[in-house]
Amino acid sequence: MQNHSAAAAVGPRERPPQTGTVHPQRVRETPMTELAESPLTTGDRNLSVDEARAAIAAALQPIAGTETVALPKALGRVLAENVISPIDVPAHDNSAMDGYAFRGSELQAAGPTTLKSVGTLFAGAPWSDNVGAEQCLRIMTGAVMPRGLDTVVPLELCHVDGDTVRVELGVIRAGDNRRRRGEDLAAGRPALQAGRVLKPADLGLVASLGIGEVPVRRRLRVGLFSTGDELRMLGQPLDAGSVYDSNRYSLMGALQRLGMEVIDLGLVRDDPAALQTTLEAAVAQADVVLTSGGVSMGDADHTRDVLARMGEVAFWKVAMRPGRPFAFGPLTREAGALPCWLFALPGNPVAALVTFYAFAREALLQLAGAAPRPLPVLQARCTTALRKRPGRTEFQRAIVEPAADGGWQVRLTGSQGAGVLRSMSEANALVVLGHAQGSVAEGGLVDVWLFDGLV
Ligand code: AMP
Ligand code: MG
Repeated sequence: MQNHSAAAAVGPRERPPQTGTVHPQRVRETPMTELAESPLTTGDRNLSVDEARAAIAAALQPIAGTETVALPKALGRVLAENVISPIDVPAHDNSAMDGYAFRGSELQAAGPTTLKSVGTLFAGAPWSDNVGAEQCLRIMTGAVMPRGLDTVVPLELCHVDGDTVRVELGVIRAGDNRRRRGEDLAAGRPALQAGRVLKPADLGLVASLGIGEVPVRRRLRVGLFSTGDELRMLGQPLDAGSVYDSNRYSLMGALQRLGMEVIDLGLVRDDPAALQTTLEAAVAQADVVLTSGGVSMGDADHTRDVLARMGEVAFWKVAMRPGRPFAFGPLTREAGALPCWLFALPGNPVAALVTFYAFAREALLQLAGAAPRPLPVLQARCTTALRKRPGRTEFQRAIVEPAADGGWQVRLTGSQGAGVLRSMSEANALVVLGHAQGSVAEGGLVDVWLFDGLV
């Protein structure tokens, strides 16, 4: 492999956004200098899962293109700039409760306070009259606090007789149950930070500021293809020794869940010329190429030759199960352009998905400009003993369910063979047995990645 990185001459092809903040850890001004020391340029090596993840993260910098989308289209998109609140939220002091509003200074020091109700105030209907001494107003939640009134006694804490309201000593303090203008968010403050992947509540928050569209990163374009002479397209007859291409569909689903734009490049035969043609097509239109099968591509010298000509792809033997082999690296584009990153996953259907989650998921989010979001790890009790040898990371398909003691328990699903997609489909989680970890006794606690939120 050449010593200077093919991507070393890379300058940003797309201008970074002029405004907005990018997570500082994600700004890498000299990524390729780091690459010189990284496993990316060291050729074949045995790496732990963590080393491989760190090497990938260190190599990548986010794409820069942005667009503006209407709020109903913004779910799951990566915010490109901070959203600054143009208004105070709430916009007025208002009542947090249904009750009676009055001046806190009316509260008696040594006995009940008696007030006369002089009107009713609904949310959205401001009160303009004065409220005099020893008077109060019936007020609904969210109604604007009339000038001078600062306290609300909830309905259930007062005695009402006609228009007379009595508040017993000690049930309330001056200032209670009033929401202050700007208390949730003051005008000029950031409501949401750039890099956020927008959730339903975020859309509501943006709407509450009166903002109807947001700047987001353009979607990451991922070219996807499967390799293997034995693979058949859906709809084709299944001749002896062939299998349907399932990986393209699992990976398409995984990419769609991440909000990526999928460029489906179909099936590629185990043939260097066909591989090169498809890779060139991918490099021309995608930010990332995701392949499965034949990485093991590296098993054949001619495949390595193709990749060596096209970029700086490293073939890693990652200490994990399932998952080997795996290849990653930049494919070169025209001078000055960001590279197109190749993630070449193993062909075994389970291994393809596991390596996707282990290596590609966070990397793609990083490229898409999303702030880091480590996967939540749950701890669950194992219903059976698990055999494991230290020195590699193992991922096992499993079902997490509530345990009798109120915690969570986890049991493995059927066959753990790397080709058995059915057990992946039945599973709702992956048990992750760490690099240094040994066997686990029945009832032992193990780390679990839940598919909800992951897939
Ligand atoms: P490979 O990594 O190319 O050596 O493939 C390993 C195993 O996974 C072989 O049994 C392949 O037939 C199978 N395989 C590879 N790609 C796919 C795919 N796209 N869909 C289903 N099975 C595949
Ligand atoms: Mg193959």
